[in-house]
Amino acid sequence: MELNLENITPEEHEELKRNVFFTTLEQLKAWARSNSIWPMTFGLACCAIEMMGVGASHYDLDRFGSFFRTSPRQSDCMIVSGTVTKKMAPIVKRLYDQMPEPKWVIAMGSCATAGGPYVKSYAVVKGVDQIVPVDVYIPGCPPNPAALIYGINKLQEKIRYEAKTGKPVINQ
Ligand code: SF4
Repeated sequence: MELNLENITPEEHEELKRNVFFTTLEQLKAWARSNSIWPMTFGLACCAIEMMGVGASHYDLDRFGSFFRTSPRQSDCMIVSGTVTKKMAPIVKRLYDQMPEPKWVIAMGSCATAGGPYVKSYAVVKGVDQIVPVDVYIPGCPPNPAALIYGINKLQEKIRYEAKTGKPVINQ
């Protein structure tokens, strides 16, 4: 049956406005993806302790639809929580390559962002963005779990914004 919008009452019009909305498939997929970010379970140094905190009951990351996965094949988000040594860098890159598309990276803490306190060390990569593309940077040494949740919220916004506008948000 065809819906004739010209003959509806103002009350029916209000009801329609409240209950019907239009979107694109891309925006719908982005909405679903942004509310089901699954980070990979791995940590590199002390920041990982704070990352573990978000999964516990006090911070309860699950309420955002995010669950840590134990395999890169089941993950769409890599949270780099800790110091990236040059020895570890190829393994981080390999894990990233094993994740299916679409995928995102969060650099958690000053080590992952730019080398942190070890910036002068010959053995440390000066930011994980030298080996994988980073979507969100979270400052701090270490950032607390609330800061990580804020970063994940920013990633959610980025996913939805990019689907809506078709333009990439370079970094946050
Ligand atoms: S940023 Fe600070 S807390 Fe985080 S891994 Fe580096 S030294 Fe540890």
